Amino acid sequence: MSEGARDLVDPFGRVVRDLRIAVTDRCNFRCTYCMPEEGMVWMPRSEILTFEEISRIARICVERYGFGGVRLTGGEPTIRANITELVSQLAALGIDVAMTTNAATLRNIAPALREAGLDRINISLDSLDRDKFARMTRRDELDNVLAGIDAAIAVGFDPVKINAVIERGVNDDELVDLARFGREQDIEVRFIEFMPLDATDEWQKSKVVGQDEIVARLGEVWDLEQVPARGAAPADRWRYADTGQTVGIIPTVTKPFCGDCDRVRLTTDGQFRTCLFATDEFDLRAALRSGETDDEIAARIEAAVGTKWAGHQINQVNFIRPKRNMSQIGG
Ligand code: SAM
Ligand code: SF4
Repeated sequence: MSEGARDLVDPFGRVVRDLRIAVTDRCNFRCTYCMPEEGMVWMPRSEILTFEEISRIARICVERYGFGGVRLTGGEPTIRANITELVSQLAALGIDVAMTTNAATLRNIAPALREAGLDRINISLDSLDRDKFARMTRRDELDNVLAGIDAAIAVGFDPVKINAVIERGVNDDELVDLARFGREQDIEVRFIEFMPLDATDEWQKSKVVGQDEIVARLGEVWDLEQVPARGAAPADRWRYADTGQTVGIIPTVTKPFCGDCDRVRLTTDGQFRTCLFATDEFDLRAALRSGETDDEIAARIEAAVGTKWAGHQINQVNFIRPKRNMSQIGG
């Protein structure tokens, strides 16, 4: 932790130390579980935080509260112009810099991202079947994504992980194939339970393939042992008894891990959020642009964290969906 930093603690005693930053609301895919096919209205450029504004928020979190890392997401972070420049600015803070990407153009920019200081990368891959991939993402880009995965491994991001959102009746027949792909590539696949953050409001609980079912289906093929400690990481992990490799599951819906959550989020337009599912946001862009000092901005961050709730309400009858979808919040 930086000298002089202190823990940023929420009302439930959880220490907040992980910042997810959405760098664009735009995307070159239109995944059915995230965006509508048409009709997204993009944020005007003037509303989007500049790299200097993003880096300043990150620096405050690092210097004052000892945040150890940030994750860049979106929208699709690789399509933000000059993204390597932002990676360099963040890496200069001496923290771990990670990215979540669809990898469609990663083949071209993986070396530059690595050079700029990107440490870790999570790549989304929901299907190994070209037609199904195209149906789910509404883009025929499977080959480019696979090339992006190869490039990520080749340049040495450590680790490279695969994220696969599993939707019943859509790609749950590929659980074993996707797991096998991870074993063959020697990278961890993490299955993500489908969350009610799709833009078209088609989420239903019946479309969620829960953690227990995923483990049971993988367990029909391989011997799995649960890896004990999860800490603040969102994935529960299992070890394949034969190879020692691991597979993860992010069970947001069926086994929420809110009790260990250490995350906060900054949207592309500078709104600070204390939960993916939060309905309140805190306007840091206005604070940045009205000339507030670091002390004043830090006070806003502390006030926001003071409202972090114990956990999301997906499984309650009174659950209210946030107004923004996943691509606007930054998954
Ligand atoms: N475009 C990048 C990507 O797809 O990796 C980064 C942004 S995306 C919003 C971040 C992650 O959220 C991806 O792994 C994506 O699969 C996941 N995601 C999007 N919508 C989701 C949903 N409704 N439920 C669960 N995960 C979702
Ligand atoms: Fe784009 Fe990622 Fe959303 Fe797919 S999940 S539409 S790649 S932001």
